[in-house]
Amino acid sequence: MDILYRSTRGSSRKVKASEAILQGLAEDGGLYVPERLPAFDRTWEEFSRMDYRQTAFEVMKLLLTDYTEEELKRCIDRAYDEKFDTPAIAPLKEAGGAWYLELFHGRTIAFKDMALSILPHLMTTAAQKNHVKRQIVILTATSGDTGKAALAGFADVEGTRILVFYPKNGVSPIQEKQMVTQKGKNIRVAGIYGNFDDAQTGVKALFADGELTQRMAEAGFQFSSANSINIGRLVPQIVYYVYAYGQLLRMGRIRDGQKINVVVPTGNFGNILAAFYAKQMGLPIARLLCASNENKVLCDFFSTGVYDRNREFILTTSPSMDILISSNLERLIFSLTGEDPAQNAAFMDSLGREGRYEISDKMRAGLKDFYGNYASQEECAQKIGSLYRESGYVVDPHTAVAAVVYDKYRAQTGDGAVTVIASTASPYKFTRSVMTSLDPSCSSEDDFTLVDQLAGISRTAVPAAIEEIRTAPVLHDIQCGKEQMKAVVEEFLGL
Ligand SMILES: *Cc1c(COP(=O)(O)O)cnc(C)c1O
Repeated sequence: MDILYRSTRGSSRKVKASEAILQGLAEDGGLYVPERLPAFDRTWEEFSRMDYRQTAFEVMKLLLTDYTEEELKRCIDRAYDEKFDTPAIAPLKEAGGAWYLELFHGRTIAFKDMALSILPHLMTTAAQKNHVKRQIVILTATSGDTGKAALAGFADVEGTRILVFYPKNGVSPIQEKQMVTQKGKNIRVAGIYGNFDDAQTGVKALFADGELTQRMAEAGFQFSSANSINIGRLVPQIVYYVYAYGQLLRMGRIRDGQKINVVVPTGNFGNILAAFYAKQMGLPIARLLCASNENKVLCDFFSTGVYDRNREFILTTSPSMDILISSNLERLIFSLTGEDPAQNAAFMDSLGREGRYEISDKMRAGLKDFYGNYASQEECAQKIGSLYRESGYVVDPHTAVAAVVYDKYRAQTGDGAVTVIASTASPYKFTRSVMTSLDPSCSSEDDFTLVDQLAGISRTAVPAAIEEIRTAPVLHDIQCGKEQMKAVVEEFLGL
């Protein structure tokens, strides 16, 4: 049976998966959610024998029901190929009493590649299916990793253009270099004077700008989004949780049906929401551990039921999680209201006007499978060092946030369940903070010297993504205030 998608905020019409992917955001400003979550229709034993692509097909066919089998398989084959530096695509590594699910083997060495390798294919297929003649303009705000992964995914894709806004002083030097060296005829990258929330709010305002969309339509363009508000990002992220479970079963590390815990370093709440959806579709997950950095809005929300963004924005060593407005939380809130769009819209309105909202005790009861906590920068640095000394395994600062929160959870609960930690970035992407955590005396070296040192101590090869940018020329140097974002769009599209 077809799964349709509805908005979290209103009664606007239900759309097919391909339409939801094309549109990104619903017309009323809400996020698309599947009207129901279907159950997995393969056994865990069957999943344990599948490779990544087969798993992807079996999961995605359940939610993207208006794509034909052939279309979906073609998208999957094009996405999960040699762009990944291991045939496992998302390997599991055991270290320090947990399983690290390495989601950083794609082209830009962060977990965003897992979904952004396939989104351009899902989107161009959707455009064909819906007879869209206009060029699709991908407008994206990034806290560092989405931008590069989206640029790499959409560069020179026929029928699309892509424009990325990043916070000029809020990303790591390697993240910035990755973006400003991106090649492609259809792309534009701009740094804004502001933080990620400013970039994201600016992008949402452009989406909602009727006058702009009208002029774009006349010139043959329409917006879509590569941010994790797009259901075409969320669905591919469910896949790797199922795949991880299958791998643990295949290796004999769990029994068929045995429950595991999942820990996710969280920013915009997309990755952990995918794990929550996987659980609702039947994956044996006991608890979902939501790990925050010092911007611990979510951690406070889980402990008090109050979401309050009125606080200082802290630039941390895990920049991709420096977020105070976690967009995808709206999908969980909607679910907690019993799928009541009016109630959800009221919460989001309050968030927009006052920067806060408080959920009821009844809604809080729906959060019992979640555990929220946070890690300071100091704790992360220590964890990177101690994990390396104990096991030789090096994690990036985002993954370290999750590892610290997992330690706190175990100390508090004594829960020894088999646990998967989503490892969201390669340590090479954050070489400076990783290396100074391991050895403070190396802070005077330049970034690429540190890269070579990291390769030596972790006994891993320098990823191609890093080699590429060592000498690449800077191709983009636009910087602007947040009020000028519209002008950047107009100039890019020649409006
Ligand atoms: C985007 C990102 C996160 C946060 O993921 P969300 O889906 O936004 O919660 C964590 N770690 C890294 C490295 C990221 O790039």
